[in-house]
Amino acid sequence: MVSEASSGAVLTIDLAALAANWQSLRDRLKGAECAGVVKADAYGLGLEPVARTLAAAGCRVFFVAHLEEGVALRAVLPRAEIHVLNGLLPGTAAEFAANRLIPVLNSLESIDAWRAFCRTRQSALAADIHVDTGMSRLGLPPEEVQTLAAEPARLDGVAPGYLMSHLACADEPGHPMNPGQLAAFVEIRRRLPLTRASLANSAGIFLGSGFHFDLARPGIAVYGGNPVPECPNPMAQVVRLQGKILQVRGVDTPQTVGYGATHRFAGPARIATIAVGYADGFLRSLGNAGCGFVGDIRAPVVGRVSMDLITLDVTAVPEAQCRPGSLVDLIGPHNDIDAVAGTAGTISYEILTGLGRRYHRRYVGGAD
Ligand SMILES: *Cc1c(COP(=O)(O)O)cnc(C)c1O
Repeated sequence: MVSEASSGAVLTIDLAALAANWQSLRDRLKGAECAGVVKADAYGLGLEPVARTLAAAGCRVFFVAHLEEGVALRAVLPRAEIHVLNGLLPGTAAEFAANRLIPVLNSLESIDAWRAFCRTRQSALAADIHVDTGMSRLGLPPEEVQTLAAEPARLDGVAPGYLMSHLACADEPGHPMNPGQLAAFVEIRRRLPLTRASLANSAGIFLGSGFHFDLARPGIAVYGGNPVPECPNPMAQVVRLQGKILQVRGVDTPQTVGYGATHRFAGPARIATIAVGYADGFLRSLGNAGCGFVGDIRAPVVGRVSMDLITLDVTAVPEAQCRPGSLVDLIGPHNDIDAVAGTAGTISYEILTGLGRRYHRRYVGGAD
């Protein structure tokens, strides 16, 4: 853990906001179960504190991407139901069983392998079946769905988990892929012998109850990302990133700042150098585009983003608030994760999962 005094930035993670977000999503579901997706170290926010917080808020079902993430989560939550989205890789079945992890089976081949494993263990172990309804990424393609529908005995000896699919365009409520995938999923569900079903990610929850089925799998909205970018964000912000000022200097025309001399000062200005760079997940595309805030005052990024440093124009900020050690909001009330992502030309998911390892991390609002 990086100490606060020595760190170049403080990342505050509000666990009370996280819990409130999850509960508000659960309340929207009116009966369907609400899982928590905690892959990629809980979207960069820390698997253990996030998982403990969600469990304390009432979350019982979790999704991770990798087997190793499932093993790590099992150590944190001995009783949770844990599903592994990336499914069964050859040679890993015993590790799934040893950790009571549920593989999301993505092909007939892995269904056959899991069934064979269940037979050797003489026990029906649970698995989900993921069908592809339009992502063309993971899941049984239509031909394999047809084979499984014709040969349902291929699931004999396997305890049925959820029938799953994933939406490609849920964050665009008017997109024709949404009703198309829904219809395909309903039709597949009619033909396969699994009764419980799960389709919606965060954005899918907002498409309406027709998309909810038995279990929803929200990730980004739990972490404060806007699930439906064309609408105001209903979620509470969970992260705040405050960069630390290392040095402040006066500059004047015709000076330039940073690599490539991409910003030339038009007149007298003050520049604050902050101990955060692209190695910390402050994307290089924010050079001459992003900004920090000191209180309510905007301080634009001037010049390129370096590996370990950025430079902000703090001419408008009172000197007393800009000293070595002062903190500047790089993600905060005036520049949330969606705003920063928009400026950087990416999505909030990438901002969160890219958050650096060199920050001092402060967890607030936790249950314990
Ligand atoms: C990552 C993921 C989710 C969560 O998606 P969000 O958009 O973050 O809510 C749900 N289901 C699957 C299959 C995923 O890969």
